[in-house]
Amino acid sequence: MNSNKKISFTTQNRLIIFGLVISTLMIMAIAIFATFNIQKNLDDSYQDFGQVISKVLAIESVEMTKDVSQDQALKILKSHTNSILKSHQEIVFIEFRDSNGELIYKANNKKLSHSTKPSISVSSPMTNAIDDSNMGSVVVGLSGAITDKVSKTTRASILFVFVIVWLVFAFVILINTYLITRELRILHDGVSKISSGEFGYKIEGKDVSEEVQELFNAFNDMSARLNTYDEQNVEQLTLERNKLEAVLMSIVNGVVVCDNNDNVVLLNNHAKELLELEGDQLLNTNIQQYVDTEGDYCFSEKIDEYKKLSLEEKSKKSIIFNVNIGGRILKSIISPMFTKNHDYVGYIIVLIDVTRETEMDQMKSQFISNVSHELRTPVTVLRSYIDTLYNYGNEFDFDTQKEFIGTINNEIIRLNRMVNDILDFSRLDSNAKVDKNENDLSQLVDACVGQIQVLLKEHNLNIDVQKENDIPLIKFNYDLIFRALTNYLSNAIKYAPQNSTITVKLYKELDKNQLTVTVRDEGIGIAPEFQKKVFDRFYRVENDTHTVKGTGLGLHLVKTTIEKHHKGNVFVNSQPNHGSTFGFSLPIDLTLVDSNDNELV
Ligand code: ADP
Repeated sequence: MNSNKKISFTTQNRLIIFGLVISTLMIMAIAIFATFNIQKNLDDSYQDFGQVISKVLAIESVEMTKDVSQDQALKILKSHTNSILKSHQEIVFIEFRDSNGELIYKANNKKLSHSTKPSISVSSPMTNAIDDSNMGSVVVGLSGAITDKVSKTTRASILFVFVIVWLVFAFVILINTYLITRELRILHDGVSKISSGEFGYKIEGKDVSEEVQELFNAFNDMSARLNTYDEQNVEQLTLERNKLEAVLMSIVNGVVVCDNNDNVVLLNNHAKELLELEGDQLLNTNIQQYVDTEGDYCFSEKIDEYKKLSLEEKSKKSIIFNVNIGGRILKSIISPMFTKNHDYVGYIIVLIDVTRETEMDQMKSQFISNVSHELRTPVTVLRSYIDTLYNYGNEFDFDTQKEFIGTINNEIIRLNRMVNDILDFSRLDSNAKVDKNENDLSQLVDACVGQIQVLLKEHNLNIDVQKENDIPLIKFNYDLIFRALTNYLSNAIKYAPQNSTITVKLYKELDKNQLTVTVRDEGIGIAPEFQKKVFDRFYRVENDTHTVKGTGLGLHLVKTTIEKHHKGNVFVNSQPNHGSTFGFSLPIDLTLVDSNDNELV
């Protein structure tokens, strides 16, 4: 039993104590009554005993002194008295008095101390047997030692019996109480176990009554049922939790759940990845203390701002801000978290990787600025040339006029190409179907190369065309592939240094079911980090440097044409300052190409 438990006086305890007190009082009363009665009887018997002694002494004294002189009689009485006192320790003194009550003789028991006082004195008359005359009296004093001894022994015995009876009685009551409460204690232990969550706990009791056994059985049954419910409940909860976790983990955005004290209580794998964390690094720590690789507290300021909002403001608007972590731009949204009962329990930070979108936005604005620039330049040139020809045309000779018109024509071709690019971009980016016919790729390469001859001359460039024989006819859209190859070629011309050679190759890879065309220049090349991006829409390496003009659409259109509309693929190999090789492959047999391949991202 727990020693710290306070003793509480239940009705049962009170009854037991009351019973004990009453029984103690009754036993005490009986004992006192018995002692009193015994004492009284003892006193009475002692009185009778004294009476007998004094009577016998009176009769003996009369008999012994009836025929002798007075002196002799006194002597006889003295010696008889002394012999009696010697043999009876109970007698303190013996007195003889005459008929007038005058003391004739008194003898004290010398064996007793002087301080011994008689407890009772008994007197008997001495009567002459012949004439019944009064001859005096004998008084005997008794010490009462025997009665004292007897009453002491009696009291001790009664006290002893009383204590024994009381102890046995108390013991029996306690044992009885223990036996009654034992079953209750077993039940109590069982209930405690159940309330502490130990469902399925069984109670057992030996030598218990039938009713109690039934109660125990009912308890065990209830405990077993609770255990079953609990197991089902745990399974259900685990299932729900697993479901929630699976949902949380499969959310494509990062999710960080924080409690009211800014401690991270949950975060999904995407959040770990976006925040560049390892394992459970951030779990159970304060989100405000999170620092990125550059040591910046990315969230602290915004979380402080969020926490200053009232609950109503928090639930109405989320705090949205961007953070830069490890070269990525993360759009972060802080929103409050409430329970079913609308209690505020913390907040959730959703992290969305918007690096690409942000880059795209930048590229779009760059594209618009490039396009407006690209359009304005030829228009300005055209205006000034046409204006000059219109106003002063007569003053120029034929050759100059021809040169002017040639420039106007070139500018118009450039304009036309740009406008076509923009139109193609919207057309090809859509899912519009493209017509394909059986065409000769070898002939297309020749036609393209033929078309750029003028440009090659202008830039003092050589061209080397290497074509394999027996190139099979394949299905493609002639105009689109023509424009794609022209794009590669005009880029090569744009970036190649003067007097260098541009190499065009056409070859078949039958094992791969494809024909491949490559255009190699000896120009500036592209750094590896940009190579993946050059096919993205609006992407231009020179966006930062603005050295060569363009819209950033050309290569994207090539990729769309080849991969989206012809199930082929594009590639680039380049080394800065050593040149680039751009290429594309087209499937020979379109039916052999898995339609899921080459999906544009
Ligand atoms: P643009 O029309 O602006 O030239 P493209 O899509 O044709 O756009 O090209 C995208 C980027 O790829 C260009 O800005 C350029 O930096 C790079 N590029 C394309 N071709 C070459 C090449 N042959 N050599 C070096 N860089 C090239």
